[in-house]
Amino acid sequence: MAALPEETLDPPDWAETARVLHLAVDQAVAHLREVRDRPAWQEMPAEFRKRFDEPLPQASLPLAEVLQDVSEGIMPFPLGNVHPRFWAWFMGAGNITGALADFLAAVMGSNLAGGNHAAALVDQQVVRWCKEIVGFPAIASGTLTSGGSVANLIALTVARNASAGEDLGEWGVESMARPLRFYGSDQLHSCHRKAIEILGLGHRALRLIPSDENFRLDLPALRTAIAEDRAAGVQPACLIANAGSVNTGAIDDLSALAAIAEEEGLWLHVDGCIGALIALAPLNRSLVAGLERAHSLALDPHKWLHAPFDVGCCLIRDAASHHAALASLPEYLNQAPRGVASADWLFELDLQMSRSFRALKVWMALKEQGAAKFGRLIDQNIEQARYLAQLVDNRPPLRLMARVTINIVCFRYEAEGLDEAALSSLNREIMLQLQEEGLAILSDTSLRGRHSLRVAICNHRTRFQDIDFLVEEVLRRGERLSDSLESGKRTHR
Ligand SMILES: *Cc1c(COP(=O)(O)O)cnc(C)c1O
Repeated sequence: MAALPEETLDPPDWAETARVLHLAVDQAVAHLREVRDRPAWQEMPAEFRKRFDEPLPQASLPLAEVLQDVSEGIMPFPLGNVHPRFWAWFMGAGNITGALADFLAAVMGSNLAGGNHAAALVDQQVVRWCKEIVGFPAIASGTLTSGGSVANLIALTVARNASAGEDLGEWGVESMARPLRFYGSDQLHSCHRKAIEILGLGHRALRLIPSDENFRLDLPALRTAIAEDRAAGVQPACLIANAGSVNTGAIDDLSALAAIAEEEGLWLHVDGCIGALIALAPLNRSLVAGLERAHSLALDPHKWLHAPFDVGCCLIRDAASHHAALASLPEYLNQAPRGVASADWLFELDLQMSRSFRALKVWMALKEQGAAKFGRLIDQNIEQARYLAQLVDNRPPLRLMARVTINIVCFRYEAEGLDEAALSSLNREIMLQLQEEGLAILSDTSLRGRHSLRVAICNHRTRFQDIDFLVEEVLRRGERLSDSLESGKRTHR
């Protein structure tokens, strides 16, 4: 007999637990049903912020009270990306089915390290569906990751090992006869620089080629760089193409890059975290033609499939190189001929061993809505971005700062007579006011040294009227702010 009373985390009263859970469901439904009526973002009042300084709780508290803490002090202060007028950075807007899936996945509690069970089959099925979406062959390999950064890191790891030609796993990067070089445009996402660093290659192994006037990888400049490197004894290894760049949504010439990769014997990796899913969109899929020719591809279901965070996906055409780069089966995880350990270990294709059942939120939403619906929603966002670009074009002093290819619009309020620094602070002020008033959430960026507001419409709740609203609000604030600048100048004279 145990000396201490036996305990468990299970509730003493399941009926009370069910009551609290039903309450949470009602609150969740109301939260999303009424999202448009709430501010897109709001600063947390100090009284709520203070709660996060409380020390480690020792005593127990009824679940109903814990839930109340969440509904009062946490749920009202979101980042805002579920709101119809959130267009900052690039992220999905979530969906209730995905939320339900995350709940059920947690209830089931399965670890996706692998094994013979239903969740593992769902995981593998979702990977297969991702291949189908982008036109990768069924025999290709793939894994669901925590997001695009890890998907890119895995792909670059496989590319590095496949290019090095030595047993890198055994001897490490110092054993390489010649340094490897990776290429991409100056518009690459920052995660590639981090990946190259983690891979032990050093930033110089990533040669950033200046992009052309539309922010696409400049092909003649790429060819020159490859030739220069070969002449200098460096080994060109991998091209990293943007299918939707983070600044402006530019899509590199994927077919031309596939041809160059073939000619030069290089690995072609496509960062499709933004744009790979356009392959689902009937009106715009031709923009990403060539995607299917990549050796590896990163895509992000928590962006344009609106899966709740987090889920990314890495696809590798050559399954053997994927396995060779990451597999390391320890003796305590032998595969058995029968029973729960009689299936593949999924962690052998990922960085993590314990893995969440993130596949379920993608699986349930795809089953419920159908892939075609997601494709239409992507077309809808691209249409909304083109609509915004048109409004900007017709409403000086608004000015478009880059060509709009997909769903990202860079523009600014270009009041006359202001220099770059003044324009930058004026536009930044417009952005901050819109955020603080909870009206619309934009981000900003710098395009060849020029400050720009940036609207990335990856949002199934956005309506065309929200775009009209944004333009009016930016104009109104721009006028007011530039007027006060003018009168400020006059009083200083
Ligand atoms: C979002 C993004 C990433 C990083 O993906 P995470 O899911 O945020 O880790 C990489 N590349 C591009 C082009 C992206 O838009």
